[in-house]
Amino acid sequence: MDGMNRREFLRKAGLIAAGAAAAGAARIAPVFAESEAVYTPGTYTASAEGFGEGIVTVTVTFDETSITGVAVDASSQTETIGGAAVKTLEKQVMAAQSSAIDGVTGASVTSRAVKEAVADCIRQASGGRIIEGGDVAVQEEQPAMTGPADWLGTPPEIGEEEIAETLHVQILVVGAGNAGLMTAARASSLGGHVLVIDKGISSTTERNWIGALGTREAAACGAKADRNLTVAELCRYASHRCDEKLIRLWADRSGEVVDWYYSLVRNWHPDVELHMEWDVGHGGHDTFYVPAVMHNFQDSNPEHAYSVSTACYGFDSMISTIRANGGEIRYETALVKLEQNEAGRVTGVIATAPEGRYIRINAEKGVVLACGGYSANKAMLAAINPDAWISTVQSAGCALNTGDGIRAGMWIGADKDPDGTAMLFDRGGIRPDQTALDHNWDEAGYFHLGSQPWLKVNARGERFANESQPYDFILHAGFMQPGHLYTTVYDSDWLQHVTQFHQFGCARIIPSDSGGRLQIFSPEVETRILAILEARGIVQKADTLEELAVKLRLPAETFAATVRRYNELCEKGVDEDFGKEAYRMIPLKTAPFYGCRQGASLQCTLDGLRINERMEVLDTSGEPISGLYAAGDCSGSFFAHNYPEYIIGVAVGRSLVEGYVVGEALAQK
Ligand SMILES: Cc1cc2nc3c(=O)[nH]c(=O)nc-3n(C[C@H](O)[C@H](O)[C@H](O)COP(=O)(O)OP(=O)(O)OC[C@H]3O[C@@H](n4cnc5c(N)ncnc54)[C@H](O)[C@@H]3O)c2cc1C
Repeated sequence: MDGMNRREFLRKAGLIAAGAAAAGAARIAPVFAESEAVYTPGTYTASAEGFGEGIVTVTVTFDETSITGVAVDASSQTETIGGAAVKTLEKQVMAAQSSAIDGVTGASVTSRAVKEAVADCIRQASGGRIIEGGDVAVQEEQPAMTGPADWLGTPPEIGEEEIAETLHVQILVVGAGNAGLMTAARASSLGGHVLVIDKGISSTTERNWIGALGTREAAACGAKADRNLTVAELCRYASHRCDEKLIRLWADRSGEVVDWYYSLVRNWHPDVELHMEWDVGHGGHDTFYVPAVMHNFQDSNPEHAYSVSTACYGFDSMISTIRANGGEIRYETALVKLEQNEAGRVTGVIATAPEGRYIRINAEKGVVLACGGYSANKAMLAAINPDAWISTVQSAGCALNTGDGIRAGMWIGADKDPDGTAMLFDRGGIRPDQTALDHNWDEAGYFHLGSQPWLKVNARGERFANESQPYDFILHAGFMQPGHLYTTVYDSDWLQHVTQFHQFGCARIIPSDSGGRLQIFSPEVETRILAILEARGIVQKADTLEELAVKLRLPAETFAATVRRYNELCEKGVDEDFGKEAYRMIPLKTAPFYGCRQGASLQCTLDGLRINERMEVLDTSGEPISGLYAAGDCSGSFFAHNYPEYIIGVAVGRSLVEGYVVGEALAQK
């Protein structure tokens, strides 16, 4: 696709947009006619914060209708990781002709910086007309905030003459992410004939934190997790609007699955170790059960100072296993719709292959939908989960997860979870002059320190909740406040506070007592990121609280009174107002003071096609649809309303278990 000219680009754009429109995907329409100039020709530069070491600068050259050159300066990034990804990232931008690139596995933070900077250049060159880095140069209509949005649409009509190729496989897996690769790795290792298709040009969604119960590693380090209590807690988070059998499947089989996953990793990368974080809930957590379930692959490379750099061995090992067992992975191949025979059995799919060709793939034993949720489909998000849509000010989600599998399943009668559920992290930072309704995700920052339980105030400058909550719970509390957002306030002793807070999982900044390199950012990295956010006006700094209130657009008197009261309670050591744990009550006294207006950073969606514990997709009467399976974020029946963040890594954990179990069953069928 390198060097694709504008005509080819627009042909592809039209084709995809037509498919999307037919699918009612996002009410997306191409913005520009072929003859119309899109960009003001010239060279544009933009920067974004990259991994720890600093700023990534991107220079993009445009002619009237296309991107003609890209140069990424990632000299501030770790040479062997972000630096090594530069050429690939440049190629991806040229091929995509947009900022909607997959990025490079293992260099996800640098990749994100490149995406942000390219999006900025595109905005500059198009005079703001291209607002979003979609797969194609399209402008998305602002989703309607009231009334039903047609996010479901109908399947596109595709004539037989349009089908360029027909493939026959035993097992077709749609999506080469966590659930899909595990499905294929397990099935192929048991002799199943597997094809995996994925919309992207590579697999990019490997994550660090894998939640599992009863692994060999857990036994070795004496990690404490009560199985029944963990299951009960998960059901409680979901108000039981879930399938407890499916949750038990994760609880019962995740140890075996992660042990097997680790055996694959050791086979391909003998120096990588599985590590466990067991000092969770340190200091006591009165209101939530926090079991030790979190696992993480780590290598011995001293340059890989943080776990972010090691999120590559799992996918690499699964891909190598699939290929070694005769399985095939075809990238740039996207599910369009499912096909059924007269009896209603799913026989396969129609997909688009590179160059926009349609192919038919017949799957003798079954189709497994593992193509993620719909976090990149704003219209679908706004319609299904308006609260999450309003709370979200920034997205870290996979740009290709547009709900295709969920819609394709529903087109043939599959049922979907009734509740919109998103994984929201309390790390979206915006400037004080921005509001929840701006939805200008590209301008927001990733404020990782937002997950620290500092004082948080609403638009009136008042405290509104116990700040010591799972990530999305404090966002939900903020959503109920005027303007739906809140502001986090901290002071110059922030590192000391963070050490005392002893956050865990991906909010961790100080090393875990269990050893390893489990913090996502070090204090040094946080310091640099804060400086960048400050320079962008997202973090505000002032010598006095009054001055800070003005900068944060908060009523100064109320804000000052709130901080006084908070400090008083901290000195007393008892949070009489909201019951926060005493060890997390630390007064804000040391100037300069800081604040950041916060909303959600959207990670992914978690409501999907309803499945049973065999991963069979259910129709609206609760009966399995023959030949159709789903796993991971594309599937539902597991979460409702929130992400149980204190069961750390359960999203990937359940995706892997679901993939493993369905892969095994189909291979043995
Ligand atoms: C930044 C970030 C960090 C996270 N960290 C963690 C963590 O540490 N622990 C945790 O438990 N969870 C984490 N999550 C959530 C976790 O990533 C998801 O729950 C998990 O990836 C779900 O796996 P999946 O296989 O269903 O989807 P994915 O891993 O997202 O894979 C879906 C795949 O389907 C492909 N696809 C989409 N549409 C199509 C189509 N039409 N045809 C073909 N292919 C298609 C996509 O390209 C993608 O490769 C994180 C999420 C984000 C965004």
